[in-house]
Amino acid sequence: MQFAVVGNPIHHSLSPILHNSAYKALGIKGFYGRYLLEQNQAFSILKDLHLKGANITVPFKEIAFQSCDEVFGIAREIGAVNTIVFQKDKILGYNTDALGFYQCVESLNPKNALIIGAGGSAKALAYILKEKGLSVTITNRSQERLNHFTQAGFQSSTFENFVLQEYEILINTTPAGLTDSSLPMDSAVLTPLLKASKFAFDLVYGKQTPFLNLAKSLNVAHSDGKQMLINQAILAFEIFMESQNISVDKTILRQSMQTAL
Ligand code: NDP
Repeated sequence: MQFAVVGNPIHHSLSPILHNSAYKALGIKGFYGRYLLEQNQAFSILKDLHLKGANITVPFKEIAFQSCDEVFGIAREIGAVNTIVFQKDKILGYNTDALGFYQCVESLNPKNALIIGAGGSAKALAYILKEKGLSVTITNRSQERLNHFTQAGFQSSTFENFVLQEYEILINTTPAGLTDSSLPMDSAVLTPLLKASKFAFDLVYGKQTPFLNLAKSLNVAHSDGKQMLINQAILAFEIFMESQNISVDKTILRQSMQTAL
């Protein structure tokens, strides 16, 4: 039984460590690998790899959505899937990024949130937070990707037109600070936003970004994206095993993934 994570680039992905740890801990005979899909390769090639399912990462989540025969849950609104299952001739699609993120902030019981960035992951977060009853605002450095959010009824603005307000949660969904030392927004704007917030979250994982460093210096509780990564993997693993009619001990699954990284 084989699964894989598909993306480009893909060598850095931690998903194989998470999923293979779970197979071992649960005593399930399975293997989870990485697959580099070239930009010019047809997505349908995945059907020929004899995989039972796959996780989809940047930049193929929207293409994967379009390639699905059936899409379940919040993925239908987001328009992107990160988990697919091959069932006979059909591709079934799910989005576990959204709930995986929400599980990270659920205990804070937030009423509102500001999402910085308007890409694929911002969509997943915006829709789940809205579904859970939060008031969601999205801000981005440029207009184009904001159009989707405006049309979907979210409050949104470019950095240029951004008006300072108080938000309980600030979420950086941009890759700013991943490979450089930049903040996602000007520090003159971020500092008062952070001071008024309860929690700062950065989707980037494996690195303390300048955004999180600023939150720390202002004594604001904060977290990187590692727990979201683990949560989405647990949810995807459950979908994969359910598709194979394999029941899973959820405590062992969570423990194995939680300690794998
Ligand atoms: P996208 O490429 O879809 O979107 C990136 C967004 O960030 C765009 O709105 C872009 O603005 C903005 N942006 C890019 N660079 C900068 C910058 N230097 N300053 C300000 N804004 C910037 O990316 P994704 O949404 O798919 O992913 C974003 C990040 O989240 C990545 O770092 C990814 O690794 C991480 N991630 C983590 C997950 C986890 O499980 N922890 C899951 C999914 C993603 P513009 O529209 O103007 O180009």
